[in-house]
Amino acid sequence: MAAGPYRIPLSRPDIDDEDVQSVIEALRSLRLSLGPKLHEFEEALASFVGAPHAVAVSSGTAALHLSLLASGIGPGDEVLTTPFSFVASTSCIFYVGAQPVFVDIDEKTLNLDPSLLERALTSHTRAILPVHVFGRPCEMNALMNFAQRHQLEVIEDACEAIGSRFLGRSLGTFGRAGAFGFYPNKQMTMGEGGAIVTSDAGLADQCRSLRNHGSRATRDGRSYDRLGYNYRITELQCALGLSQLRRLPELMARRTEVASWYRDLLSDVEEIILPAPPASGVDWSCFAFVVRLGGDSDRPYRGRILQDLRTKGIECSDYFPAIHLLPFVRERLGSKPGDFPACEKVAARCIALPFSSSHTHEEVEQVAAALRASLAELPSCGDLRKRDV
Ligand SMILES: *Cc1c(COP(=O)(O)O)cnc(C)c1O
Repeated sequence: MAAGPYRIPLSRPDIDDEDVQSVIEALRSLRLSLGPKLHEFEEALASFVGAPHAVAVSSGTAALHLSLLASGIGPGDEVLTTPFSFVASTSCIFYVGAQPVFVDIDEKTLNLDPSLLERALTSHTRAILPVHVFGRPCEMNALMNFAQRHQLEVIEDACEAIGSRFLGRSLGTFGRAGAFGFYPNKQMTMGEGGAIVTSDAGLADQCRSLRNHGSRATRDGRSYDRLGYNYRITELQCALGLSQLRRLPELMARRTEVASWYRDLLSDVEEIILPAPPASGVDWSCFAFVVRLGGDSDRPYRGRILQDLRTKGIECSDYFPAIHLLPFVRERLGSKPGDFPACEKVAARCIALPFSSSHTHEEVEQVAAALRASLAELPSCGDLRKRDV
């Protein structure tokens, strides 16, 4: 990420001396796994999001996997979810042998459109797995009402949304379980890492057992009662997580500022659509800065613009590709182009620009100027000016 051939990286972890010092101390303690830092991190995270329990694991994907397992989702069950996300929110449904059933998105928020849930419902539907894409909260009132009406479990993929709130309540705390991820491009990082938050003590216990080979502490040692995994996280990672969590308000504020620089510098560019500002009652902890090309048929232009920016030393990305069109998903579900038009339209036009709490104003200026130049240099980009959103 930070390393590589690009002058301006897509993302960059924000590590200060305090972070470094915390990891060194953990290393020197010689307690490297299942130690005090794990418990301290879990307590601090639970308190930050306002959840009674947090269970730290080795990745966001592991957190999703265990959330589904511990909620009893398995073979024969259908899980309603979004096709516009990082692939892990769908992979975890396959891990437990359940069937993802996609629901198209709202083009404004890029999140699953709750008004489309009804038509995807079958007698096998057991759960909803909403993703708060780029940190922007899903419409949780409508979603939770629907879930209650149909007695569905809600497992939130809040991996991009640490610090975001919907009507004052932290994302990840609405459903039976919420999953966070702490990969180096997230708002805060543990190098690798993730966590489950829940108000269900039994579910938290089950996740603690499942992350450590299905074991539980007994009077004279450990017993292995069920099939488990090794999803443990090291004390070094938890020390980093604790330090980053202390800095999170500052890191979030910086991200909001970087996003506002982009908005100021790009607001008059006709060819692109900026992310819609957050609705009222929503606190958006921004994970990525993703713009969209306007116009109708722009797949070829998008590829050329990405290429052009990369040639100029600016790392950028096309996320997210539509999950229902990934080869392994098509093979399993028989999904095809045209199934989820809003998702496909958005997925073909997104450009994720370099973004993190440590990107400077100068870098953002360079990116904005390069993007303007790329759009101007490509003659066929004229078509993009027909705005339609
Ligand atoms: C980052 C992320 C995850 C978890 O990713 P890991 O690499 O397993 O930590 C899951 N879902 C979404 C939407 C993500 O962005």
